[in-house]
Amino acid sequence: MRWILPLLISFTTLSAFEFALNPQRITPEVTCFFGEPEVMNKSNNGNMVNTCYINTKKSYVVIDSGSSYLYAKSAYKAMQKIKPLPVELVINTHVHDDHWLGNGFFAQKGVMVLGSVDFVHNAIIDSPSRIQTHISPEAYVGTIPTLPTETISSDKTLKIGEQELKLHLMEKKAHSAKDLVVFLPKSRTLFAGDLVFNDRVPSLVGGDINGWIDALDDLKKLNATTIIGGHGFRTDKKAAEMTRNYLTEMRTEIRAAIGEGLGIDETIKKVQMPAYQSLKMYDTLHRGNVEASYRMLEWE
Ligand SMILES: [Zn+2]
Repeated sequence: MRWILPLLISFTTLSAFEFALNPQRITPEVTCFFGEPEVMNKSNNGNMVNTCYINTKKSYVVIDSGSSYLYAKSAYKAMQKIKPLPVELVINTHVHDDHWLGNGFFAQKGVMVLGSVDFVHNAIIDSPSRIQTHISPEAYVGTIPTLPTETISSDKTLKIGEQELKLHLMEKKAHSAKDLVVFLPKSRTLFAGDLVFNDRVPSLVGGDINGWIDALDDLKKLNATTIIGGHGFRTDKKAAEMTRNYLTEMRTEIRAAIGEGLGIDETIKKVQMPAYQSLKMYDTLHRGNVEASYRMLEWE
């Protein structure tokens, strides 16, 4: 029986980590992977972000590559089972690492990766990365932070296969300094990146509450019938409403507190927004969101 233990050990070291990713068909041409609406940790291993594949008939375009090499590989494998097509382009919606640490998997295949010019200035490629410090080492194996191969600083329309893709950069700082969204006019599908959250509290740290609300107003003009955010499961035409309501209610309450002459600590105590208390990540993010927004709004 002495041989059983070494055999088990060699099996566990040999069997590579696999993400149990579950592809969800959103429209006839769009399939997405929805992560848990929670912070990256050792139980979700970075499967806490949404990524999508657009079928152009001749190839796939990937919206966000996910949080690690193995995440990107698992999503790719799942898509090849549905329909074997090469990936022609990867688009990164913004610089936060849960959305693009999977780039290395596609770069290895020679796929072009496109992101906003913000990647030149604000992508953090420190080692260890934020994801790396929070997930299990097995899940991070193979991940090499890989920046987009091309960056854009203005809107762009691409024709790939049977799809037209409109890449639209937000004018002002919103969730990040330069958020990029992708719109498919034929099916009125919007990939909103982290301008849209659902099922959890959005993260405002490093963003701008005014710019974000303006960005959502701007996106409303697209009349999208399907809206896929960077986190959360909702994808109908009203999927942007939770984020917009959260931000506008917070701004109204903070402005009122500033008007009453309240300081930052008193404002944090006051702006509890109980309607959002049951959402995931309220305890970890809400306070910081109020604080960050107060520091912006006090200068108005
Ligand atoms: Zn983000």
